[in-house]
Amino acid sequence: MPDLEARAWRELDLAALRHNVQVLRGRLSPGGELMAVVKADAYGHGLAETARALSRMGVRAFAAACLSEGIALRRAGVRGLILILGWTPPEEVPLLRRYRLTQTVADEAHGLALAAAGRPIRVHLALDTGMHRLGVPAEDFNALQNLYRQGNLRIDGLFSHLRVADSLDAEDAAFTQEQLSRFYAAVSRLRAAGLPVGKLHIQSSYGVWNLPPQPCQYVRAGIALYGVLSQGGPVQRPLDLRPVLSLRARVVSVRTVPAGEWAGYGRAFRAQADVRLAVVSIGYGDGLHRDLAQRGGQVLIRGRRCPMAGRMCMDQLLADVTALPEVRPGDTATLIGRDGPRDISAQELAARCGTITNEVLCQLRPRLPVVTR
Ligand SMILES: *Cc1c(COP(=O)(O)O)cnc(C)c1O
Repeated sequence: MPDLEARAWRELDLAALRHNVQVLRGRLSPGGELMAVVKADAYGHGLAETARALSRMGVRAFAAACLSEGIALRRAGVRGLILILGWTPPEEVPLLRRYRLTQTVADEAHGLALAAAGRPIRVHLALDTGMHRLGVPAEDFNALQNLYRQGNLRIDGLFSHLRVADSLDAEDAAFTQEQLSRFYAAVSRLRAAGLPVGKLHIQSSYGVWNLPPQPCQYVRAGIALYGVLSQGGPVQRPLDLRPVLSLRARVVSVRTVPAGEWAGYGRAFRAQADVRLAVVSIGYGDGLHRDLAQRGGQVLIRGRRCPMAGRMCMDQLLADVTALPEVRPGDTATLIGRDGPRDISAQELAARCGTITNEVLCQLRPRLPVVTR
């Protein structure tokens, strides 16, 4: 077996994942269940490794973005509900059936086209309550009734997505309440018409952080499951979550660069005095932001912060270890995670790169092997 930690790797802390699952379960309404959102390679954590671990923790509902992710989950041995959150072409109905996947109905036309494919499938209806991305307009009762008339759509659930649940701004909080009202109004109207609504779900991570438990059967948790906020800033109901992912790479070479020399591509770094540079075997080809060094990026080596130096390469980066003469090839460099007393969070990287942790994490490339702890 190759040494998975030879070059650069993603490390999953399964105890942290288990802890997060328990903490999130503590925020469900009675009878509620966690739906683990594992789209985009489980937010860069590794789809199969993460989903298998969650299955062992008793998670029985998963959400993927697209058909290929749903199939990958079944091939990884995942059982239970797999909901495809995005649009799937109606021609793929046979694959939805073969892999027992539950498809989101993206709008009325999509639902009719899926039904016209000629074989029954399980679906959840997305309701558009104000995000205006996917979903049947929640107030369009005719469209909803029409979908219920399609014998090939087995409607197991109804859901919606909140647009500004991450905001504590009063106007945004009012809009979230408006979305909740539209959702429950549609549910009541369908129930009154004798139409079975199945499982309901509307909260994702920020819905859990900022709202009380909802009278629904599922909570769709993504970023919270992985133990990080999308961005800094307060939430109404903080959760004691632990980051699951660490990102580490090997120091493969250490060299002294004399004063006045340039290092790396271009003219991004010039040694002001003699410096010692560590070559770390990870780069933008692994999903790091190429501009990270210029934005103050650092790595942890031997428990100390070392500044990145020069232009990041596709497969390597340089770190200035002049202050740490004991650094040797073979040392581990930490890009995200803890090393001794110090820690670099995904949120720190996201802030440097002007984005959210979701993007930083889901950029991580599959060539980074996943190691579980
Ligand atoms: C991605 C996604 C989620 C998960 O969102 P988090 O903020 O990561 O919890 C939930 N629902 C839908 C529809 C999504 O697209």
